Amino acid sequence: MSLKTVTGFAAKAAGQLLEPFTYEPPEMGEHEIRVAITHCGVCYTDIQGIDDHFEISTFPFVPGHEIVGTVSEVGGAVSGLKTGDRVGIGWQGRSCMSCEWCLQGEEQLCQDIDKCGTWKPYGGFASSVVVDGRFAYPLPAGMPSEAAAVLMCAGISVYTPLRRYAAGGSLKVGIVGVGGLGHLAIQFARAFGCEVTAVSSSPEKEEQARHFGADHFLLSRDQAAMRQARLSFDLLLYTAHGGSDWTALLYSLKTNARLVVVGFPENQVMFDPLELVVHQFSMTGSFIGSRAEMKEMLAFAREHGITPKVELLPMSQANHAIERVKRNQARYRIVLSNEMGGPQPAIDA
Ligand SMILES: [Zn+2]
Ligand SMILES: [Zn+2]
Repeated sequence: MSLKTVTGFAAKAAGQLLEPFTYEPPEMGEHEIRVAITHCGVCYTDIQGIDDHFEISTFPFVPGHEIVGTVSEVGGAVSGLKTGDRVGIGWQGRSCMSCEWCLQGEEQLCQDIDKCGTWKPYGGFASSVVVDGRFAYPLPAGMPSEAAAVLMCAGISVYTPLRRYAAGGSLKVGIVGVGGLGHLAIQFARAFGCEVTAVSSSPEKEEQARHFGADHFLLSRDQAAMRQARLSFDLLLYTAHGGSDWTALLYSLKTNARLVVVGFPENQVMFDPLELVVHQFSMTGSFIGSRAEMKEMLAFAREHGITPKVELLPMSQANHAIERVKRNQARYRIVLSNEMGGPQPAIDA
């Protein structure tokens, strides 16, 4: 093994458990940096990546895209970063920088987005990662690394649509799903001055949702309560990945209001289009955020004390962490730490 050999955890094929995986460090381009990873969050999208749900995974697949670490090497064309800087990295690790979306500063919409993931070639469940330095963000001093890690995907995914549609303040916002994304969305929506309702199928999440700042709690399986909520929200942010009664959710929107999907629901979205027409509802998606929004989100999170609730585990327990996320047992985000025990070299390396 060379000194720089990377140790990580990989699924060898779709749907398999992660195994120790040792690999030669990827070649670095002139715009790229190498980052020694201290922390990496576990996002539901990692599990969908392991399962090749999006049909873009390559195997062996090293998941992980809520990364915090220390810059250990910089390419010749990198500016603004140096060895030793603490940075955060999210799902997007590069972009083409030349399509119409990249040119207008919306790199998250890059037309080559399937080639832009931090997962390519290998992600953050590892000792180090290589990304384009323009997609690594210096972290505010004093922000704990495990908290910053979660902001890099869960945080930006909910910050961007709330900033776009709810920053006017005093809107009635419903956050659907109180999980990794939802518990941050409640906090961001409150910080934007909104009246926040947590909408969840789990009654036991009410107390925590209120603790995160929700003014109200709406149990989505309570049909009477859902009927009572008819025409009440200016904005619904859908952060869950399970199925939902989409028609009931749409009914809870005010006329001209909007439902924004940020989770990756695994079921088809079914609803009665009549309500869409009569009340002029809009449904839209929102995908992570641009580089400018990442920087803005980090500053906003620090200013308003937005704090993910994190369970810290050694990276060597990556499979256990994934199992807990699959069983919906993470409260509310698991972050893997190399400082507590990272990947060991594979036995056959
Ligand atoms: Zn993610
Ligand atoms: Zn592009």
